[in-house]
Amino acid sequence: MSEQRVVVIGAGVGGLAAAIDLARAGRAVTVVERGDAPGGKMRRVPVAGLGVDAGPTVFTMRWVFDGLLGDAGTRLEDHLELHTPERLARHGWEDGSRLDLWADRERSAAAIEAFADARNAQGYLDFCDRSADVYATLRDSFIDAQRPNPVSLVGRVGLHRLPAMFRIQPFKSLWSVLGEHFTDPRLRQLFGRYATYVGSSPLSAPATLMLVAHVEQDGVWLLRGGMHALARALAAVGDTLGVSFRYGAEAERIETSGGAVTGVTLAGGERLPADRVVFNGDASALGRGLLGEAAQRATRPVAAPRRSLSAVTWCVVGRPEGFPLDFHNVFFGRDYPAEFRAVFRERKITETPTVYLCAQDRGPWAAEGEAGERMLLLVNAPADGDRGGIGDRQLAALEQRVSGLLGRCGLALELGGEACRVTRPQDFEALFPASGGALYGRASHGPLASFARPPARSRVRGLYLAGGSAHPGAGVPMAALSGRLAARALLGD
Ligand SMILES: Cc1cc2nc3c(=O)[nH]c(=O)nc-3n(C[C@H](O)[C@H](O)[C@H](O)COP(=O)(O)OP(=O)(O)OC[C@H]3O[C@@H](n4cnc5c(N)ncnc54)[C@H](O)[C@@H]3O)c2cc1C
Repeated sequence: MSEQRVVVIGAGVGGLAAAIDLARAGRAVTVVERGDAPGGKMRRVPVAGLGVDAGPTVFTMRWVFDGLLGDAGTRLEDHLELHTPERLARHGWEDGSRLDLWADRERSAAAIEAFADARNAQGYLDFCDRSADVYATLRDSFIDAQRPNPVSLVGRVGLHRLPAMFRIQPFKSLWSVLGEHFTDPRLRQLFGRYATYVGSSPLSAPATLMLVAHVEQDGVWLLRGGMHALARALAAVGDTLGVSFRYGAEAERIETSGGAVTGVTLAGGERLPADRVVFNGDASALGRGLLGEAAQRATRPVAAPRRSLSAVTWCVVGRPEGFPLDFHNVFFGRDYPAEFRAVFRERKITETPTVYLCAQDRGPWAAEGEAGERMLLLVNAPADGDRGGIGDRQLAALEQRVSGLLGRCGLALELGGEACRVTRPQDFEALFPASGGALYGRASHGPLASFARPPARSRVRGLYLAGGSAHPGAGVPMAALSGRLAARALLGD
């Protein structure tokens, strides 16, 4: 039999992980990527002569990449310089209060006691135990399973762990469970923010998402060269395994014959024959027919109200003053529930939105240029990038509100101008077609939403899905796992 040819569409982290596993298993793999570099959302944009990380900044679940590269006969640390910071993040509020969270949970508990009181510190420690329990229960049974549903999940968890399943309270919202642990509203806000790591509202996300707290506790790393360097490293590993990368190559159509995949046609007309195709773009692109009629029945598109968060981001090079920034910083708006009601119900950004700021030169590898230091700022926004998005006047008003909030928290920073590059939901939609600008696929709202993500095996024979819009979900390590699940399904068929 001749060598099986696989085309991977998209060089996001899911596509890269799938390509590595497939090449390692002896398949002839071609990755076609419409952008000019690997990484997808892990992109880097030039601002004032410096490269600013414009996507993910929090690197967790390192074991996923240790596994991926270990299986490929290499090691993460052979390709990347990693650093474990003691401080996880710095948080600020308009009343001037500040709280640092630490990798060491006892240190965080002490900080919380000083910030709030002993009761909230104990609430935090209990919350840590509970989130560790959730993570242990779901890691193998849900995250690493091909197509879990509530029944198969119980089967995989095993009867002996059923009490743990009930303890994790999947039918309660994260917000309500946080109320059981924290009387201080600022702490409820701080830990509720973990829902946004998968693009969801803490008011509607199930309490199971508290596992994000444990993921952070389990280890957060900084990477020299930022997260984009991880994408470059994965592409380099793929390269050594014989993967052929084609950048500036957009897949226009997935071809089938007799219901099975036969190839991919690129914009411009070139046809790449393929026995199997892995699609790493947003899964909704298939259902919306963007890759042709044949691939349309592969999966259903996500309706706009069910999409996860989008964002407005600013990549800035500048000189922030007043507030002692750490690498990860969060400046909280006044009313957290109102923020999510605005985004998900009213489809707008609230008056005082919470701002995340990544000061990328505050790690161990400072690279301040003449124009100042590199920063990424992010505000949550509705994923309506295909329905108008955020207009110029709205953006100007938002920038004033963001600068105002930062100012009240003690940070002087101007947005706009030459040393600032803005990305709005409509820009994310253009970069990641059919997503509406949603950065994490479907929102994880309600106890069953996590089961609604499409699995790796699509309804079209020979076509597989990999990436944050597929199971097990969004975030860099989860999307990588999804790529590995796609490779495993493909090799198993
Ligand atoms: C601003 C921001 C902040 C984030 N913060 C974090 C964080 O701190 N930690 C974390 O873990 N996660 C974070 N995330 C989420 C994380 O980045 C994503 O979940 C993950 O990178 C998605 O990977 P993916 O495999 O789905 O591919 P994507 O990154 O979505 O890439 C898909 C690729 O497919 C390509 N493509 C699509 N269609 C075609 C086509 N027809 N032909 C050719 N190529 C095509 C696209 O160009 C793109 O390169 C963040 C995301 C953003 C945008």
